[in-house]
Amino acid sequence: MKTGVFFHEIFSQKFWPVMGHKFKNFPKIMDKFLGLPEVVLIEPQKVSNLLLYQVHEAQLVEGLFRQDYAQGALFSVGGCVEAAEKVYRGELKNALVFNVAAGHHAGYFNAWGGTYISSTGPALANLQQKHEGVRAAIIDTDSHHGDGTREIFLGDRQVLHVCFCDLDVVEDLGTKVDVRVGNIMSDEEYLEKVRSEFFPRARTFGPDIIIHLLGHDTHKDDYGSRGLGRDLFVDLVRELKKLAEEICSGKLVVITMGGSNREVSEYIHPRVLDVLARE
Ligand SMILES: [Zn+2]
Ligand SMILES: [Zn+2]
Repeated sequence: MKTGVFFHEIFSQKFWPVMGHKFKNFPKIMDKFLGLPEVVLIEPQKVSNLLLYQVHEAQLVEGLFRQDYAQGALFSVGGCVEAAEKVYRGELKNALVFNVAAGHHAGYFNAWGGTYISSTGPALANLQQKHEGVRAAIIDTDSHHGDGTREIFLGDRQVLHVCFCDLDVVEDLGTKVDVRVGNIMSDEEYLEKVRSEFFPRARTFGPDIIIHLLGHDTHKDDYGSRGLGRDLFVDLVRELKKLAEEICSGKLVVITMGGSNREVSEYIHPRVLDVLARE
């Protein structure tokens, strides 16, 4: 089975809200790994209106359609929907999904912060409709609180959402958790926080699939810095991959989130792909 890389060429052609032009040199910069027999590059389709209207209020969706970043957001979320479905069904081993203008600050009514529709909402709505009783664990390691994701899944106890941010919250019978992380941390301290706060919860919850929202705005040279080094992001995915192998047959979808530092993105994303495909 292969690792799916979901990337649309439009992502490299424009300057996107908040994250800028960090995918300028993609997917070319991953050529070495895209050529591996273990990897397949997939051009995503746009997410369907049907799924969007299930997760977002009509006004929000219609507002998006008028923006110049709409196409990027629609292809991004289409990639999330297809990746989650193919990984869940065992058609792909795991996946790395590139996202622009979509992500964790998009809730039912409001969307902001560079993310104008939800990455995970439509993806899990689709899975839940097609496969009754699917349980998903979302881990959010972007620097900021995933307010939109939380709003969408609050009350849905088939979804575990553990968010590493500035809050300290446990709600929805322990299926929705915010873990406060420090402003400046060592890579090892951050990893240890993830091991101690996410791993036991995920083991107890027993997901069928893990979705990782991988922001790199926590990097020491990015806009949400928590002092982290670039290898942390690769190590994080490596550990989550092992956890997924232990508890859900390796079913892991990594979705890119915040961060605008192109050098960091160009360092981490090819290496993350290599970890997903070959380790
Ligand atoms: Zn962020
Ligand atoms: Zn949070």
